[in-house]
Amino acid sequence: MAIAENVKRIKEEMAQAAIAAGRDPKQILLCAATKMNDADAVREAIKAGVDCCGENRVQELTLKQSQDAYTGAPVHFIGHLQTNKVKQVVGKVDLIHSVDSMRLLEAVNKEAARQGIRQDILLEINIGNEESKSGFSAEEIPAVLSQMGNFPAICVRGLMAIPPICQNSTDNHKFFQEMYHLFVDITAKKYDNVCVDILSMGMSDDYADAIACGSTMIRVGTAIFGARVY
Ligand SMILES: *Cc1c(COP(=O)(O)O)cnc(C)c1O
Repeated sequence: MAIAENVKRIKEEMAQAAIAAGRDPKQILLCAATKMNDADAVREAIKAGVDCCGENRVQELTLKQSQDAYTGAPVHFIGHLQTNKVKQVVGKVDLIHSVDSMRLLEAVNKEAARQGIRQDILLEINIGNEESKSGFSAEEIPAVLSQMGNFPAICVRGLMAIPPICQNSTDNHKFFQEMYHLFVDITAKKYDNVCVDILSMGMSDDYADAIACGSTMIRVGTAIFGARVY
């Protein structure tokens, strides 16, 4: 099947990129970006060995969970999350990649506390400072992390970014490297409720570049499932 072959090829390319960068291939996880793909396609990707699945839309997450699509793999939320939908995501996913505002942090913390759980999250960085994208700026991250003591129902596991679309890999590297430096900076410091080990960056077109720059988790859709039909 195409999905199995694609996953196999991507894993080989991930390993090559890791080794070329002097990294251990085991340090990098493959998250299948499953949006617009049905439960059977998700099951096939899990069977082929993806490390986790990432869903973008609450409605699709809920539907596929009801179909037991993710059995055998952790499920993550990777899309923009509206505060009025946190109840449908908190406690239902292993990791939320896309916490992009203080308001959402507060809402996730409140819901996790209500459920009596601790929710793992990543902070989304608007690394290109693009008007069209949400996310924290790199500059505000130290201040945000120093406030995490006020969010005891949240554990910050790292950072996520979707850099601007670049025409060449040199520009791409610049954004990925900025993310990596921020990741290293915050890993070196001690903050309450922060335990940083995940740097989520790299998609179908640029995952090798992202791995070269230090990504620990790539989110890949098209290269696994083929072009999405909207
Ligand atoms: C769709 C999506 C991806 C994967 O994109 P591809 O280019 O299809 O690999 C990764 N991250 C997020 C947040 C996405 O929405």
